[in-house]
Amino acid sequence: MRLIFLGAPGSGKGTHAVRVKADYHIPHISTGDIFRANIKGNTPLGQQAKAYLDKGALVPDELTIAIVKDRLANPDCAKGFILDGFPRTIQQADALATFAGVDAVINLILDDETIVERVTGRRMCACGATYNVATLKGATTCAKCGGELYQRVDDQPETVRNRLEVYAANTAPLIDYYRAKGLIKDVDSNGLSIDQVYDKIKEVLDTL
Ligand code: AMP
Repeated sequence: MRLIFLGAPGSGKGTHAVRVKADYHIPHISTGDIFRANIKGNTPLGQQAKAYLDKGALVPDELTIAIVKDRLANPDCAKGFILDGFPRTIQQADALATFAGVDAVINLILDDETIVERVTGRRMCACGATYNVATLKGATTCAKCGGELYQRVDDQPETVRNRLEVYAANTAPLIDYYRAKGLIKDVDSNGLSIDQVYDKIKEVLDTL
């Protein structure tokens, strides 16, 4: 199953991709995670990407495409993959089509207001767990591993607004792009719990 998760920052792509990975045994490839890991490790890629992530701007297509192409060549992608946060531009989507097929594009729909609330309240743990201040009840450590929670630099309100603008300008056109190819599966998550959204996603995946 070769999947793309499309949706604005904070629409739940990462959360649901982690579940799909566990249930369907296909790798979860998040370009944002790859960039963040490289920034943390201060690698040459991290040094190139850092300024873009800090601003909430897109890393140049050439660099991003090369990373994904390389990652998809890994044998663990032979049975499928979940792309989370890629493609983000038409150029990236065109490039992807030259080196990988796609079976479905899950389009997570969520109101802007909920997104801003969600992203600015998001807290992360180094182990990969994600929380929200709305449900943390003041906790500052991870319930899974005890690690200290932190806020992503690009989850600050100013940067979130910029990321939403970048999404509307560059990434939202991909919905029409993939709809024209008959690949879009809309999943409206407004007013639904994480479990309810995941049930909808599974319904879609089980038809593939
Ligand atoms: P994410 O974790 O998906 O929200 O991505 C965080 C940041 O990483 C984005 O705001 C961009 O700066 C960068 N990034 C992630 N994926 C891409 C992509 N496909 N193209 C360009 N930049 C990306």
